[in-house]
Amino acid sequence: MFLKKPISASIKICWEQQVERLKNEIETSDAIVVGAGAGMSAAAGMDYDGERFEKNFSDFHKKYGIQDMYSGGFYPYETPEEYWAWWSRHILINRYEAGAGKPYGNLLELIRKKDYFVITTNVDHQFQLAGIDKKRLFYTQGDYGLWQCSKPCHQRTYDNEMEIRQMAARQKDMKIPAELVPHCPVCGAPMTMNLRIDTAFVQDEGWYAAAERYEDFIRRHMGRHVLFLELGVGSNTPGIIKYPFWRMTAENPKAVYACVNSGETLCPPEIARQSICIRGDIRQVLEDIAQKD
Ligand SMILES: [Zn+2]
Repeated sequence: MFLKKPISASIKICWEQQVERLKNEIETSDAIVVGAGAGMSAAAGMDYDGERFEKNFSDFHKKYGIQDMYSGGFYPYETPEEYWAWWSRHILINRYEAGAGKPYGNLLELIRKKDYFVITTNVDHQFQLAGIDKKRLFYTQGDYGLWQCSKPCHQRTYDNEMEIRQMAARQKDMKIPAELVPHCPVCGAPMTMNLRIDTAFVQDEGWYAAAERYEDFIRRHMGRHVLFLELGVGSNTPGIIKYPFWRMTAENPKAVYACVNSGETLCPPEIARQSICIRGDIRQVLEDIAQKD
């Protein structure tokens, strides 16, 4: 991959100038590839810990010592009734009751008239809620609104809204009624979330179609002035967005890599001259760009 250790942006330019540079790139590039990770939804107020967690999961905290919504999703609950009590609550607040977060709306406003494509590891449906053209979106890791067979015996996903709302409404003492535990309509095995947690993740027809559209978009813009705009991508799965963005920037002298993150903003020295690294609040950056018009 890259030869040298990544470094922080070599020159410390003031916030104002960096935002100006990014705005200019958004306006002048031939195409924009947005890569969004967990930091984008955190900037939208979808916190998975703290007050928002306590408000909805204090009973799970008390019983199991769970401290945030990420870890709670991996907890090996004793019964399916308890497992679905957790998940139905989690999905309800993060998928069905959440509106589109402000940074998502601001971002789409900025790129709406451009030739763009979005790839995301987020599973909370925020891009769709904000009104993205679905043909320009590839959500690689699943969606809270979908179920699949846990085996899986077949490669299909199922909408879960009606069932999730029932589970959330009818649960008591951290358990849903046994008759609401969902089973695969084909083999009878338990259903599970369509989230890439292990190799059982189902990639259905829609997933493959989106993957193909993404690859096609990249191919069509090869060698052009492309802005790779990385927003809130952490270091959990860098192989999906971050590393490919670095590589594609390195391979194309006309490409620009921009990284906005409240945590680490790194880029390899090979592409430092083509990079804009802004360490700060994504929400603030997008608002500042929008207001510069
Ligand atoms: Zn099955």
